Amino acid sequence: MAGVSLQQLVKRFPDGSTAVSGLSLDVKDGEFVVLVGPSGCGKTTALRMIAGLETPSSGRVIIGDDDVTDLPPGRRDVAMVFQNYALYPHFSVRENIAFPLRMRRTPAAETARLVAEVAESLGIDAHLDKRPGELSGGQRQRVALARALVRQPAVFLFDEPLSNLDAQVRATTRAELVRLHRRLGTTMIYVTHDQVEALSMAQRVAVMHQGRLEQCAAPLEIYRTPSTLFTARFVGSPSINCLTGHVAVHGNRQQFVGPVTMDVVSPALADATLAFRPEHVHLSVEPTPLQGMVTLVEPLGAETIVHVRLTSGADVTVRLGGGAVVEVGSTVHLTIDSAHALVFDGTGRLAGKGRA
Ligand code: ATP
Repeated sequence: MAGVSLQQLVKRFPDGSTAVSGLSLDVKDGEFVVLVGPSGCGKTTALRMIAGLETPSSGRVIIGDDDVTDLPPGRRDVAMVFQNYALYPHFSVRENIAFPLRMRRTPAAETARLVAEVAESLGIDAHLDKRPGELSGGQRQRVALARALVRQPAVFLFDEPLSNLDAQVRATTRAELVRLHRRLGTTMIYVTHDQVEALSMAQRVAVMHQGRLEQCAAPLEIYRTPSTLFTARFVGSPSINCLTGHVAVHGNRQQFVGPVTMDVVSPALADATLAFRPEHVHLSVEPTPLQGMVTLVEPLGAETIVHVRLTSGADVTVRLGGGAVVEVGSTVHLTIDSAHALVFDGTGRLAGKGRA
């Protein structure tokens, strides 16, 4: 078991593109960290540098107490699971799982015991004598996981391992992985572009943007107190509401002024964005200072998403309970829960919050 420390990692490709530009991140021993970000933000390249499949242009990779920057993949004690499970089609499931142990010349009895153990823990023990072609996508991905697990590496690296699976199998495999992590306590670094996957699985979420670390924190902190507008917009569905305006200071009163006005705790800002999540807007029939017209209603079963155009012309998304009845075209009155509103400055940094 070992922690992983990335120190100022940079990766420039020969064509001049920079995939990772100064990434520093400390993953604690036994921690489950998810690297998340939009396509092309450099997360796969970062993971490949940890695995040793890509050489950093500069910076160091430390695993446990060892600087492994210049070591080949085979000497790093890491196992990587990819999106494409790359199983050997002519081998049985048993032989596929046993493969890394065979390479290490593990004695046959020990191999049989380890394979049986890991196959049982992943619920694929009934399929050991089948070929990969006879399995479903979810089962195949579990064989790939089993093959990584059986090596008992110090660190697991996952690159979008569930993205080929359908939504239901994906959700169950996600939960299984989290349980597996709890049981094994091995350091896991998991790459995905799916913010739901990131928030639901990680102990800490590392949000990447244009080759840099945007923020690394516990899922709820990322959701509730994003340090940048980029992170605020990247997590949460439907997206956080963003209204642009400025923050005016009159004596000891600070006010966001834009499509809505709200008392805030913030320095004066010529350019500001007021951001608040759809669940922090409430609709009422009683008049409030904020009025709008319903443009779209999405009844999703457990919740209803309502889109409202304010009289100022700005659009606001509202999350209501499942049974909410709202008519398109009706006039509604809104209240924004200022205790949960955030203020970002013109550079997209968190600068303040709504006054509770
Ligand atoms: P995705 O979710 O789409 O896989 P990612 O965040 O994992 O994206 P990377 O695959 O790390 O992103 O790529 C980061 C950037 O580096 C991209 O702009 C990509 O085009 C570029 N890149 C990746 N590999 C190479 C390469 N071998 N040569 C040149 N550029 C590359």
